[in-house]
Amino acid sequence: MREQETAKIVITGHVDHGKSTLIGRLLLATDSLPKEKLAEIKKISQELGKDTELAFAIDQLEEERKRSITIDTAQIFFKTPKRDYCIIDAPGHVEFLKNMITGATLAQAAVLIVDVDEGIKEQTTRHAYILSMLGIDKLIVVFNKMDLAGNKEEVYEKVKKEALRVLADLGMKPVYTIPVSAKEGTNFTGPSPEMSWYKGPSVLEALDSLDLTRETAVRPLRLPVQDVYQVDGERIIVGRISSGKATSGQSVSLLPSGRVARISSLRVFGKELTEAGAGESIGLTLEPTLTVERGEVLTEKESRPQPTDRFRANIFWIAEEPLEINKKTTLRCATQETGVIAERIEKRINSSTLEVIEEDARRLEMNEAGVVVFKTDKPITAEKFSFVEELGRFVIEHQYNVQGAGIIVEERCDQAKM
Ligand code: GDP
Repeated sequence: MREQETAKIVITGHVDHGKSTLIGRLLLATDSLPKEKLAEIKKISQELGKDTELAFAIDQLEEERKRSITIDTAQIFFKTPKRDYCIIDAPGHVEFLKNMITGATLAQAAVLIVDVDEGIKEQTTRHAYILSMLGIDKLIVVFNKMDLAGNKEEVYEKVKKEALRVLADLGMKPVYTIPVSAKEGTNFTGPSPEMSWYKGPSVLEALDSLDLTRETAVRPLRLPVQDVYQVDGERIIVGRISSGKATSGQSVSLLPSGRVARISSLRVFGKELTEAGAGESIGLTLEPTLTVERGEVLTEKESRPQPTDRFRANIFWIAEEPLEINKKTTLRCATQETGVIAERIEKRINSSTLEVIEEDARRLEMNEAGVVVFKTDKPITAEKFSFVEELGRFVIEHQYNVQGAGIIVEERCDQAKM
């Protein structure tokens, strides 16, 4: 059966290992490249005297994206008989992490690409680290440029072993490992004579067979308030449901204050509804009418988290300026914003080797990861990332620049424990 929801996948891997070519190949294999584009690429490639360069096609799409100021993530679409896909391109790990954690584009599955000629490199491990941090366990590892290795099984097995070891260190196990040539299109749609020794699924078959059901639907209601509008004397609260469902007539709590009210009406795009679910943007009114602000979180009355001002997180630092303990910065979690300090950096981790560089560190440098206890200026509504993604991830900002991003692994920790 064809699935309703568009599956978001992220393509990761070391620079030049073939991300763009793989994306181009997926578009080509699913007939998703606009005809004019294809003709144009062929023409330019001929002029340059090379075969149709798929990477070039993607770079062109990328150029277009750069010129457009409205879209800040490259989103490329293709479809199979099973479902629609949206590829979140990750040109570099900074953009990748930013896009993933700032929210709009949290992927449900990932493809990690490894050039068999080069093997595991810095960014391979770093990207794998970020995927593990984000709990993305629907992972397909694609071993690319098999044509350069004469399509030999031994080469694939050797690099695969190395990759599986790195992933195992991160507690990850790929759902599929596939030897391919993105350039030649080998193992993208079905079995290929070049690698008759490979008996597993092709890239498209593997993607289609992933179970991408979201768990947020069965969690209790969480709705971070985005805005409040006054319309015809009514106060309409607007936001996107992070988890669970909102029902007309339901009793809810507003956090962090704990005030209680009842949802008196519910609408989506101006249409009155009785129920809305995770992922939907809605407007609602409360009875009694309370003064509500952006950043408050509407939750189920019976099942609600206790606000917290100290929590433990896994973070990844992307700014040149280091994260220093006890230095005030800004934290953003869903629609909540508050001043924050890193109270304790329990572990400082090299993200490309995964080594713990230091325990009880004073700072985290660019590209380092860490286990950090944060203390916020005011209580926030937070959850473990594994429970409600949107309330379990956050960014650290300085003057609206994202400096680091993290996921909450323990939503409450007391000072004594430190
Ligand atoms: P990215 O930086 O990860 O996006 O890598 P690209 O897709 O730009 O590819 C880097 C280079 O590797 C380009 O010159 C590609 O043509 C080449 N390449 C990609 N896939 C293959 C492949 O399967 N076989 C061969 N021989 N070259 C490839």
